[in-house]
Amino acid sequence: MILDEIRQAIQQADRIGITAHIRPDGDAVGSVLALGLALLTSGKQVQMVLRDGVSNTFRHLQGSELVKQKFDPDCDLYIALDSSDLLRLGGVLRDRKADICIDHHITNENYAKINLVRPDAVATCAILADVIPQLGLIVDLPVANALLTGILSDSIGFRTSNTTSDSLRIAADLMDKGANITVLYNKALISRPFEAAKYWGYALQKLERNDGLVWTTLTLEDRKNAGYPGNDDADLSNILSSIDPLDVVVLFVEQKPDLVKVSWRARPGLDISGIAHSLGGGGHPAAAGVECAGSLPEVTEKVLQLTANYLKSVKEETIGVHRGRPDGG
Ligand code: AMP
Ligand code: MN
Ligand code: MN
Repeated sequence: MILDEIRQAIQQADRIGITAHIRPDGDAVGSVLALGLALLTSGKQVQMVLRDGVSNTFRHLQGSELVKQKFDPDCDLYIALDSSDLLRLGGVLRDRKADICIDHHITNENYAKINLVRPDAVATCAILADVIPQLGLIVDLPVANALLTGILSDSIGFRTSNTTSDSLRIAADLMDKGANITVLYNKALISRPFEAAKYWGYALQKLERNDGLVWTTLTLEDRKNAGYPGNDDADLSNILSSIDPLDVVVLFVEQKPDLVKVSWRARPGLDISGIAHSLGGGGHPAAAGVECAGSLPEVTEKVLQLTANYLKSVKEETIGVHRGRPDGG
């Protein structure tokens, strides 16, 4: 059993390192804090590391002040959370492999020695809500707050199509432990600094559309002009997914003159994780991303072409199925 293997590996280790993906979202931060704090309470020595640190959005979470940006000294056991591949940890493990990976990405590459991957889970934090008690660890209030933050973030407040009655049951259990859903919801999904709203403005001005495909860009200059401090998209891709009608929205965020972060959001029923994976990234059917080498115009053209081709193939398939039906309906 994978859980027995995880339990044994943790038991045998004194110094445990925990990390998650770069530009950490609420699920990455929440899962590192939840497992990290639970292990600390059990008496283990724990280092919690996120290459890009914790953004202001999640600084209210207890334990966020303990998160470092590199491992020092080395640990006996490394646990990677919410990351579908090793590269996306941002090099914090240097030349070491992850010992344990706990994740919910359909594109997970099983890169650790022990892999617990549940693609049906709405968030890595939903898996941990199940796993932490099974490891004999305690879900106290700070752990419950971290777990609920991850679930709220990845489900965009229980809006994504992978939200199930189980997701709500897990959230309800965390509320019973004292987690305040109103405060956590507001912090994770609603309140944004002025600079974020200004940053959105640059992208919104450039919004374009071709049938159900919507896209826009954010340049390094936009970021500077807005005074936005992060290298993420200030949650804009999720906001743009509210456009209706919409098949796919793609957001291009310039990271360096020759590196672009691409984010896709798709309507339920489509699966854009394959395009992201084919370019070296990954994600879920309805939300995926990749860092693409190349200038902003080059990456934009290439990715829009691939996405348009995908939408065309889906449309043709649908028409084909309808034509093929004997009753013509
Ligand atoms: P984002 O567009 O960054 O909000 O990411 C959407 C989803 O795709 C999230 O579940 C991410 O964890 C995943 N994702 C984003 N970028 C990558 C990448 N470079 N490699 C693998 N998965 C990614
Ligand atoms: Mn994540
Ligand atoms: Mn996640």
